[in-house]
Amino acid sequence: MADVIGFIGLGNMGLPMAANLVKAGYRVQGFDVVAAANEAAAKAGIFVAASAVEAVRGASVVVSMLPNGRLVLELYGSGILQAATAGTLFIDSSTIDIDSARAVNALAREAGMSNLDAPVSGGVGGAAAGTLTFMVGGAEGDFARAKPVLELMGKKVVHCGDTGAGQAAKICNNMILGISMIAVGEAFVLAEKVGLSHQALYDVASTASGQCWSLTSYCPVPGPVPTSPANNDYKPGFAAALMLKDMLLSQEAAASAGANTALGKHAAEIYQSFVAAGQGGVDFSGIINAIREG
Ligand code: NAD
Repeated sequence: MADVIGFIGLGNMGLPMAANLVKAGYRVQGFDVVAAANEAAAKAGIFVAASAVEAVRGASVVVSMLPNGRLVLELYGSGILQAATAGTLFIDSSTIDIDSARAVNALAREAGMSNLDAPVSGGVGGAAAGTLTFMVGGAEGDFARAKPVLELMGKKVVHCGDTGAGQAAKICNNMILGISMIAVGEAFVLAEKVGLSHQALYDVASTASGQCWSLTSYCPVPGPVPTSPANNDYKPGFAAALMLKDMLLSQEAAASAGANTALGKHAAEIYQSFVAAGQGGVDFSGIINAIREG
């Protein structure tokens, strides 16, 4: 019988990630609280369990991919640690706060299980293509065990340090992303006002010192990068509400660690206003439209 992996949370990211484990030959026992997610999972060859507790039974590895830290803590406290075989490796790939990541690690270890925080970057496209980047926090031995499984879902797997270090890397990376998208948006709006074409700014900045991912992969104006959400009516991609979540996580971490992140703070406020104006479901690059409106 194929080795068993439990997979909890079969949403936009979790489903394609779990589907890649099925393709690699694992028996994947999945569970989501939403019926439609379970139906889609069954079509992808995932064995849908009646509960999270049932999904972990007999598994050697359990992956969770949930919206936030509170839900991950609730999941780890719901009996799954007691239902699993001793020594099972629990990998949480959700993006959550560092304190919750450390708390779930403590719960897992007390129950005789192994645990890693392993958030991802690369979005829904990367999840489907199996090209995610995993940022992993936890013990060296657990990382070595997880790596071959994570490599079935991602192309880059980085051990960032002890428990919580994966979440720390994710939060720092996304703070750069959130700030840089606003910077790129401001530059295009300034270009419009001074009569410089989008393409000319792109052609220069994409190979000059203004080059960054927000410009060359998610260019916030239609045209220069045909695959960017701007060409698809700012459909996500990476929704502004998720960007706001990550910016707020960065500010929570900065406050508790005493780090000065003045631009991160301002960027979080800008996304907060955008989401409050009803734009949470729009790709975060749509922030350029709020910048243009002033
Ligand atoms: P999503 O909302 O599409 O999926 C989350 C799923 O978890 C939902 O289907 C929900 O029903 C399910 N769920 C919630 N509580 C549950 C529980 N107790 N048991 C079982 N299932 C439960 O979100 P997503 O886009 O897949 O994101 C998941 C995580 O990945 C988030 O932490 C997000 O920040 C992170 N992330 C998302 C992206 C992206 O581009 N979407 C990129 C990188 C990281």
